[in-house]
Amino acid sequence: MIHSSPTPVPPQRVPVVIVGAGPAGLTLANILRDASVDCVVLEAESRAFIEQRPRAGFLEEWAVRALERHGLADRLLEQAQTHSECEFRVDGERHRFSYTQLTGDHHFVYPQPLLVTDLVRRFADVKGGDIRFGVRAVELHDIDTEEPSVSYTDSVSGERRHIACDVVAGCDGARGVSRASLPSECAHVARLDYGVSWLALLAEAPPSSDCVVFGVHRRGFAAHMARGPQVTRYYLECPPGDDPENWPDERVWSELRERLSVAGAPPLTEGRLIEKRVLDMHNYVVQPMAYGKLFLAGDAAHLVAPIAAKGMNLALHDVLLLADALLSYYRTGDTGGLRGYTAACLRRVWEYQEFSEWLAELLHGPSSGDPFRAGRATARLRRLFDSPVAAAAFAESYIGSAAGGNRR
Ligand SMILES: Cc1cc2nc3c(=O)[nH]c(=O)nc-3n(C[C@H](O)[C@H](O)[C@H](O)COP(=O)(O)OP(=O)(O)OC[C@H]3O[C@@H](n4cnc5c(N)ncnc54)[C@H](O)[C@@H]3O)c2cc1C
Repeated sequence: MIHSSPTPVPPQRVPVVIVGAGPAGLTLANILRDASVDCVVLEAESRAFIEQRPRAGFLEEWAVRALERHGLADRLLEQAQTHSECEFRVDGERHRFSYTQLTGDHHFVYPQPLLVTDLVRRFADVKGGDIRFGVRAVELHDIDTEEPSVSYTDSVSGERRHIACDVVAGCDGARGVSRASLPSECAHVARLDYGVSWLALLAEAPPSSDCVVFGVHRRGFAAHMARGPQVTRYYLECPPGDDPENWPDERVWSELRERLSVAGAPPLTEGRLIEKRVLDMHNYVVQPMAYGKLFLAGDAAHLVAPIAAKGMNLALHDVLLLADALLSYYRTGDTGGLRGYTAACLRRVWEYQEFSEWLAELLHGPSSGDPFRAGRATARLRRLFDSPVAAAAFAESYIGSAAGGNRR
């Protein structure tokens, strides 16, 4: 009797494999597809999951305009609110800060799940792009050779699949596999741990203010950030590694009221809390961001705690540069953009890291229990409110309009 063995799935070949369908991977995939450079996107989660995962909400004007130039911002421009001010609440007083007046640029309030939904729909449904959801055990092979490849286990058949490619874009976020594929002797990870955590909350409640509110308070920092007409994000500084179970709803609202209320401000609009998680505040940067044929982008390459709403913007900046470099390579054979990728990204990465650390110290100093840090935070706030030059510098950094001189 002859036993027929199952037909092995033949290896596939595409120019670019993108690992991860977050804002970075999906933006890159759309730009490459529009330029007829074939790519496959591998995503560990389901489509429904990534289209609902709540995270970021603030996009900087330069990033929105870049998405618009690539035809990726239609619904965003129709639906997003724009913000031009933020507010500091300190010692019972409100200080409004109009960064748009100083820079001309706005923030666009557009929740990350909406952006991801738009990008998936355009790539997969409108342009017929190839995203494979629910993949397991992704592995990168031979990235230091001219013949790299990526393998994974298919979610439906359970079979092992292999894709050969020219380039791998590692866009799989802070917990992905791409970063670990860089040999430790070739890539260094610079880290900063703030030693505090934030309780990240999402409330089914309309925003209580028309702008971002930073509550600088001796009991700990607190913040209010709109996410849409009916959903608001709040943050509460808490001890490192705190457990969300320690924060029943009544405690959350009473602490938010305590840290954010000031005379003349409307009371907080309360609602059901639909997300409550503790984020340990830390940053890292991988240098270089590329090795052989692997190019890291977004949170895979650098993490910036959500202190100044920078992470998604940086992820977009990386892939705009990577897309330019890849298109230049495929159109003319020029490898200059790929060789200069790390240096081009890191200018903005380090500017944002430095600003986030500066702002973190201003926000956490008063609750640190250290009189020196508290005094320094007060000096930073006073300078920001009193000096037009300091205010202009803060505004540029906050909206990212002058980062690295490589405005896009
Ligand atoms: C509470 C919170 C609030 C934030 N607010 C802001 C804000 O207002 N503005 C801002 O700019 N940023 C903000 N950020 C940061 C922002 O969310 C991230 O920087 C952004 O998601 C980075 O995008 P990315 O595409 O690099 O990574 P991700 O969005 O993490 O996407 C990576 C993708 O890869 C997939 N993946 C992981 N491992 C694998 C694997 N092994 N194989 C295949 N796929 C894999 C993941 O499922 C995911 O879909 C916030 C973050 C948090 C947590």
